[in-house]
Amino acid sequence: MVNILLNVSQRIADKIWVDEEGCWLWCGAQSSKEGLARCRVGDRVVWAHKYLYEQLRDKIPDGHRLKRTCREPSEVCVNPFHHEVRGCW
Ligand SMILES: [Zn+2]
Repeated sequence: MVNILLNVSQRIADKIWVDEEGCWLWCGAQSSKEGLARCRVGDRVVWAHKYLYEQLRDKIPDGHRLKRTCREPSEVCVNPFHHEVRGCW
């Protein structure tokens, strides 16, 4: 298991499977429409890739979104180091 995952709750880390490319493949709930990873934090349901980015890297500024930079074909990579912040357009 990747050491940085020790910084997130075990419940969330248990849903992540790290592949040989370093992608963190989400095995938890996904939105039916976009296929994006979702997780429950307290009483809220949040996007897992955004949650992990904010937990492990930095706050996402208002009006910005995350763009995935890896080539994992599905939308389930939640590795915060495979995402970067982009302004809206
Ligand atoms: Zn990835």
